[in-house]
Amino acid sequence: EGYHGSAIRIVLLGQNGVGKSALALSLAGLSDRSLSVDSETACGEGYERTVSVDDEESAVIIYDNWKQDLSKLQCEVVVLVFSVTDRRSFHRTAQLRLILRESLPHTPIILVGNKSDLVRSREISTEEAHSSAMMYDCQYLELSASLDHGTTELLEGAVRAARGDCVGP
Ligand code: GDP
Ligand code: MG
Repeated sequence: EGYHGSAIRIVLLGQNGVGKSALALSLAGLSDRSLSVDSETACGEGYERTVSVDDEESAVIIYDNWKQDLSKLQCEVVVLVFSVTDRRSFHRTAQLRLILRESLPHTPIILVGNKSDLVRSREISTEEAHSSAMMYDCQYLELSASLDHGTTELLEGAVRAARGDCVGP
């Protein structure tokens, strides 16, 4: 819209503490120098970058703290984040998915289980999250924002979903 033209807007939603801000930095390519995030890279409250996926460049903007009414959300992709170590955060993504399906019935949603590095405190299995995502026709990805594992796959998946390229759950 307007100033940002056809940039792909990716919005991260989920309970506090699941790692949205860490993930946003990682997706923005800033995880190595998170101490020096400045106004040059921050765009509004989002991070702007270009990314090459399938030999095509796309501008993306990553938003990690949507504070307004969810019914006013406008974006090309929603990433619903929970922590695999916190069942409540998993329930929260289910609630958000229901709300979003009302206002944004056609916007692709990607379910993300973060903190996969915390193996010993895991509360949600990959299988459970995966079958939940399948029921709602979402893609499921598991990753660790801290270790920067799986974040590239998420960015690529989000860009492909926004382009309307086929992405299975
Ligand atoms: P937000 O409230 O959703 O924005 O979550 P934050 O990004 O602020 O992260 C909350 C806490 O979880 C911080 O202490 C992060 O360092 C930690 N965290 C985020 N991602 C991961 C991860 O992948 N693994 C682990 N072990 N900790 C993480
Ligand atoms: Mg945050």
